[in-house]
Amino acid sequence: MDVYNDDEALEANRPTVGDTEPLDLLSDEFARFAKEEMEYEDREEDDFNVKGQSFTGVVLGFGSSFDPDRAHSHNPFVPVAQGERCNACRWADVAIMRVASDDNVPLYVVVTMGKSKNPGEDQRVSATWTPDPMGVLHALPVSGRNGAPAKIPQPNATAFRHAATVDKGIARVLEDHEEAIPDYAPRGNALGF
Ligand SMILES: [Zn+2]
Repeated sequence: MDVYNDDEALEANRPTVGDTEPLDLLSDEFARFAKEEMEYEDREEDDFNVKGQSFTGVVLGFGSSFDPDRAHSHNPFVPVAQGERCNACRWADVAIMRVASDDNVPLYVVVTMGKSKNPGEDQRVSATWTPDPMGVLHALPVSGRNGAPAKIPQPNATAFRHAATVDKGIARVLEDHEEAIPDYAPRGNALGF
């Protein structure tokens, strides 16, 4: 197979936001867009909105614990109970964005989104703005319940490792803290061996 032609075909089919409205990070459209962006070696600049704040930028990294093909951990005809874990019903999306600026001063925003398919359940979103790639790393760990030590969950680590492939500042932080950031990239075949 000719790799060059393959890349061209990929580029021609590349989805764009193509909308005049800034894309809201909590939307399903954003999740689709961000996931597809990870397939490319560069990132497309667009207008985004998070918690009512609009900005122009790129999705450096995206990770998600959404697992729609997994069997539900509960009766699928009733919503998953409060506090119960089911990655087909409740999940986290993490996006690491770089905000465009005229003077090339870096500004990153790390957005963590708690999502749910349960009717009436809130979609939670938190955003950390930082000019420093180290600040991006510091935004990744999540404290455990009942005082368990903070860990970097899969979506957060995946987003960070994607971001490091396209952002020099984040790549340097990854290099210096490689062992602190879990690597969940699939290896070997699909069965994991
Ligand atoms: Zn479920």
